[in-house]
Amino acid sequence: MLLTGCSTIGQTPDVISHHKKWALQHGGILVDQRHQRLNQTCHRLAPACHDIVIDPHVLDSNNLAAYSWPNGELYVTRGMIDAASPDELASVVAHEIGHLIAHHNHSDATTMLLGQKHDVNPEIQSDALGCRILAACNISTTAMLHTLQKVKQSTPTHDPAHALLNQRILRLQSDMSNPFPN
Ligand SMILES: [Zn+2]
Repeated sequence: MLLTGCSTIGQTPDVISHHKKWALQHGGILVDQRHQRLNQTCHRLAPACHDIVIDPHVLDSNNLAAYSWPNGELYVTRGMIDAASPDELASVVAHEIGHLIAHHNHSDATTMLLGQKHDVNPEIQSDALGCRILAACNISTTAMLHTLQKVKQSTPTHDPAHALLNQRILRLQSDMSNPFPN
């Protein structure tokens, strides 16, 4: 999601070793009950995944962040998992699925979920896609708002991500008071 850091990098022949190196630089992979919790969250959202295959991992980092790669690898930090309620964790994963749907140029799915008007900012678009995914799985979209507020609280005001988080929160609040505009 990021949340503060979303990453999309194209596939390369050594994409797997590249991702392993990247994961090590971001704290390394953690396999404990958090990984199980993340798996369960992905299963909860599976009905709205639009053929996107997700390979979830936990990054051993205190930061509140999540990342996804075009091949479906999804990374959520330990800090994010510990800070999130079950529905908030679902909103984190739903936002990342939004990136994957957009990245795979599933324009039919994007149009179906958002209508014809797509946002230029990929974070705002993924928030909107994520909310549609949550709603399709009967999860309250306010979880997305609460997640962004938690991430904003953990982000220093001088961080450029802070201003974008503000923008995303205002946009979500506006969308919620005027749901499903086309
Ligand atoms: Zn994002």
